[in-house]
Amino acid sequence: MNILFATSEAHPLIKTGGLADVSGHLPRALLSNEVSIRVAIPAYRGLHSKLSSAKTIAQLNIDGKAINVLEAFLPGTRVKLWLIDIPVLFDRPGGPYQNEHGQDWHDNAERFGIFNKALTAIACGQTEISWPVDIVHCNDWQTGLLPVLLKLTPKAPRSLFTVHNLAYQGLFSYETFLALGLPGDLWRYDALEYYNQLSFMKAGLTFADRINTVSPQYAEEIKTPEFGCGLDSLLRHRSGVLSGILNGIDDKEWNPGQDTNLESKFNKQSLSKKLPNKLALQKLFGLPQREDVFFLVMVSRLTGQKGVDLIVKALPHLLEMPLQIALLGTGDRDIEAQLLEIAGNRPDKLSVKIAYNESWAHLLIAGGDAFLMPSRFEPCGLTQMYSMRYGTIPIVRNVGGLADTVTNIEETEGTGLIIHENTADELLNTIRKALTLYADRQTWKTIQLNCMRQDFSWKKSAAEYAKLYSAILDSPQTD
Ligand code: ADP
Repeated sequence: MNILFATSEAHPLIKTGGLADVSGHLPRALLSNEVSIRVAIPAYRGLHSKLSSAKTIAQLNIDGKAINVLEAFLPGTRVKLWLIDIPVLFDRPGGPYQNEHGQDWHDNAERFGIFNKALTAIACGQTEISWPVDIVHCNDWQTGLLPVLLKLTPKAPRSLFTVHNLAYQGLFSYETFLALGLPGDLWRYDALEYYNQLSFMKAGLTFADRINTVSPQYAEEIKTPEFGCGLDSLLRHRSGVLSGILNGIDDKEWNPGQDTNLESKFNKQSLSKKLPNKLALQKLFGLPQREDVFFLVMVSRLTGQKGVDLIVKALPHLLEMPLQIALLGTGDRDIEAQLLEIAGNRPDKLSVKIAYNESWAHLLIAGGDAFLMPSRFEPCGLTQMYSMRYGTIPIVRNVGGLADTVTNIEETEGTGLIIHENTADELLNTIRKALTLYADRQTWKTIQLNCMRQDFSWKKSAAEYAKLYSAILDSPQTD
């Protein structure tokens, strides 16, 4: 099966969140499953220099924009990468979706619209590239127009649309819909129109042959008004083609036995060697170096989704408890400011770093005793899985991928503590429970070992994707 994997970010080239991890690792894991794959990504500024020997394999022109398609390998892998190079749209400073000031690029619809049109041309054999595509695997709103563009093109391959986060939908004006030159009859409530706006996400969900999300629990949740972000009725309508496949983690990069970011490597047999990481982390974060104190850590985007506002609310009480907290993240400017202010008043207990730093993220996850993740919703979540691998016990809400990956410590072989309600009080109660548990070091160690025994490798997920691809090719073509 030839799969064109369309994505807007891919580790280690460009990353804002979990989508990059999936795009960087799933294709590699799929290679051994009778799947041939090409990962296609926009050529953001600086990407060329991270690739060795990229060569042009096609040139096209869409809506007056000159496009170069370059072929290289995803660094460190045998996976072929296609860079879609449209300098006027992607060769800019800032992030993939936002400028340096954190504002969305004004022309995001055009940027990703043309990216989608270019991939449609490639997938449908309209370029010099002679690689017959069986399935276009689309990911999140940035690739949402692909399924509809494919449906509009004769002899097009099939499509799979994976939802990594339903909350980001790619909403634009009617004028933008017109400017993209999409057929007028797509401006319907059962097509691309969503409350008088153009929705890239809705386009993907409506026109893809199959839809999946990154955990089975999230696939169920998004069919409800609570988690459906306004698209739950559409998702109920399409429930026959909707499923969930849990993400894996890169168990080489996130391996406490080989992790060069750590002060001290460790594994199940040498758990005591985890301790120097705690001390190194306390030093890095400017907290008093104490072996015995309960150390709570968090690495996260600082947004409402991640429940960081609940933490802010709970902090006055939390900081009365015998613990330390280290937090690494970036995101909502208000939340960042509030956290920094509270940390400034309690430097002995709370340290906050507003930064995106992969190496620190590894040390945090290795050095903490427990990892806090009180998400309101969580399509899959990776950090709770990383934490388990590092014997850092997760404290999580029972939603989405968190519910699928963390087993309540009250059950046999339990791996984490569950926050049952979305309130600051329940967050505090659960952390109190963790403190009591931590006082009994033998039980704590048993839970750590339960965590470290879990297998979250990509192999299992890749086999499920390969099965889903086969099912798509076996199912009859729909209009
Ligand atoms: P989401 O995709 O919703 O942000 P995930 O848990 O699925 O959440 O993935 C987040 C990824 O981004 C993880 O690999 C995590 O380690 C990383 N990450 C998030 N914030 C930071 C940060 N400030 N510094 C380094 N890595 C981060």
